[in-house]
Amino acid sequence: MEPVDKQLIVFDFDWSMADQDSDRYVFEVVAPDLRRKMKGLKDQIQWTDLVAQTLAEAHGRGITRAQIEHALKIMPFHPAMARAVDKLKKAGYTDFLCLSNANSIFISTILEDKKLTHIFSEIITNPAEWDGELLRLRRRVDPEGPQHSCTVGCSPNMCKGEELEAFLARHGKEFDRIVYVGDGSNDFCPILRLREQDLVLCRSHRGLQRRIDKEGAEKGLKAKIQYWAGAWEVEEIFATL
Ligand SMILES: [Mg+2]
Ligand SMILES: [Zn+2]
Repeated sequence: MEPVDKQLIVFDFDWSMADQDSDRYVFEVVAPDLRRKMKGLKDQIQWTDLVAQTLAEAHGRGITRAQIEHALKIMPFHPAMARAVDKLKKAGYTDFLCLSNANSIFISTILEDKKLTHIFSEIITNPAEWDGELLRLRRRVDPEGPQHSCTVGCSPNMCKGEELEAFLARHGKEFDRIVYVGDGSNDFCPILRLREQDLVLCRSHRGLQRRIDKEGAEKGLKAKIQYWAGAWEVEEIFATL
C-alpha cells in the first residue's frame, strides 16, 4: 500500500478484533440455556436490550461477576491479531477507533486481559457498568431520547455510520487513509462513508460480505475491499500499511 503520514484504523470488535461474539459466548460459557433462550427471542427484542435482560436473568440465578469475567478472558482472541495491532500502534502513525455493538465492560475486560488497553484512542459502544455482581447494560442511543436517522438498517441502539462521521468531525483532522476491519451486516453503514483511498478489511462469508455483494454497487460503495478469513492474514496486511 502507499505510505501515509496519518491513518485511522476502525475496528469492529466481535468476530473482527476478537475471534468470537462476546454477547453470545459469555452465555455459552456460564448458562447455555440462556444462550438458547436468546436465540429464540432475538427477532422480538432489540439485541442490546436482550443482552441486558439476559445478564439480569443470569444475575438472578447467582451467576457472578467473576464467572462472566472468566468467560471473557477465555474467549478466543488470536495472538496474530494482538501482534498486528500492537506493532502498528507502536509505529506511531496510526490511530485506532473501536466501533462495536458489544459493550464497554466486555471490551475493556478482554483488552485488559490481552494487554491491549493502549490501542484505542476511543471506544464507541453500548455503556455498561458493574453494580455489585450485576452487569448493567444500556443502549448507546437512549430509547427515551432522540433516535438516530440511519436509513441503511442499523439497529436502534447505535448507527455505526453516524458514529464514524461524528468521530471524524470531533477529531477535526484528515486521515490520509481509513482502514475499516469488520465482519457484520451492521458494518455496512459505516463503510459507505469511506472514500476511494480507504480500505475495508472484510471477514469472508459473514454478513458484511453478503451486504457488499448485494448492495455495494447500488449504494455507491467507494472503498477498496480486501477479504480475510483468519487474523494471521490481517497481520500480513497490516505489515503493508
Ligand atoms: Mg462483528
Ligand atoms: Zn447506520
